[in-house]
Amino acid sequence: MGFSRRLQDHPRLLAAGYKANLWVAMRSKFAIRILGAKRLARWLYAPEEFTKRRIFDCKMCGQCILHSTGMTCPMTCPKNLRNGPCGGVRANGGCEVIPEMRCIWVDAYDRSQKMTTYGDDLHILQPPVDRQLEGSSAWVNLMTGDDKVSTAGWQQSPKAEA
Ligand code: SF4
Repeated sequence: MGFSRRLQDHPRLLAAGYKANLWVAMRSKFAIRILGAKRLARWLYAPEEFTKRRIFDCKMCGQCILHSTGMTCPMTCPKNLRNGPCGGVRANGGCEVIPEMRCIWVDAYDRSQKMTTYGDDLHILQPPVDRQLEGSSAWVNLMTGDDKVSTAGWQQSPKAEA
């Protein structure tokens, strides 16, 4: 078992890290006003990609929902599903597309059960991912609120907007 998988199997620790990150991000919004979102993104993109790719195999979708999916990246699902598994999960928990891979939603569920914070967020209905944010910094999008902008016609639940 690799280091990142072992780490992800301790989602409480990762959720605490996320909470701390969120706290910093929410208090650093002034940096957007001073530096501008584009410049900040140039500085933050590399460290975000470096850390999240190693730990979560992050695909830099720009709209991070890790804390709502048991600290398991939904974009590592071959079908990029963000609201639970497809109907093809194998009896042994394997992925329909890549049988030797465990379904990421099986992992997401198991890990969410271990979490004391955010575990219930697994039930939040996620809006369609905005592909225009792909390749951008989710940290900066969190600060600007761009990660909360939904496509026209999509209504988020009040909890998802919180
Ligand atoms: S949800 Fe998006 S930003 Fe978060 S780890 Fe997965 S690809 Fe990266």
